[in-house]
Amino acid sequence: MAVKFSFFSGNPSLDLINTEEMRRGKRIDSLSNRDDLNHWFQTLVTMGAFSEEQFGDVGGQLDEGLLSVLKPFRTKLRVLLEAAAESGTPPANLIEELEQTVKNAPLSYKYQADRLIPVPIGSFESALLSLIALDALDICTSGKLGGLHRCGNPRCIWLYLDHTGKRKWCSMKLCGNRMKASRFKLKTVGQPEELS
Ligand SMILES: [Zn+2]
Repeated sequence: MAVKFSFFSGNPSLDLINTEEMRRGKRIDSLSNRDDLNHWFQTLVTMGAFSEEQFGDVGGQLDEGLLSVLKPFRTKLRVLLEAAAESGTPPANLIEELEQTVKNAPLSYKYQADRLIPVPIGSFESALLSLIALDALDICTSGKLGGLHRCGNPRCIWLYLDHTGKRKWCSMKLCGNRMKASRFKLKTVGQPEELS
């Protein structure tokens, strides 16, 4: 049965990384089989992170073979973007790898009245990786990098973009409320006299 994803940013690279999450101290992988992969891809299309025009015929290609490529790619993206979020300097070797990934399926453009849609030229797999790599490279540009953060919940491994400078959590609904609840618990347990 397909896993329900609880976090989407609209940035394909973050939405790939965030398919891994911590639940009760355990790392959970929401991309564990072909159904998960199909669900993830369709959700990104529905949410507008990808558009169907960016790919040729997808039929049957969201399979275990693609998963075996996507997972190590996800690991590299996490290393890159965690380092970038922490130090402000994305590792040069990983940037080069992403540039190469885009080169494997370089972009053409499709005109639509309201926007230009980048369309990678290559197989479905190369096109998908190219668009995700392009998104990660874009996040690493100086205009956007300052907005990249790790969630303020030390037990959460999600990354998010925020340019308001106000957001501390991947999601207020998830970690924001969790952290508020645990701070309240600490306060009330630590200072019981305030309760009486
Ligand atoms: Zn979080």
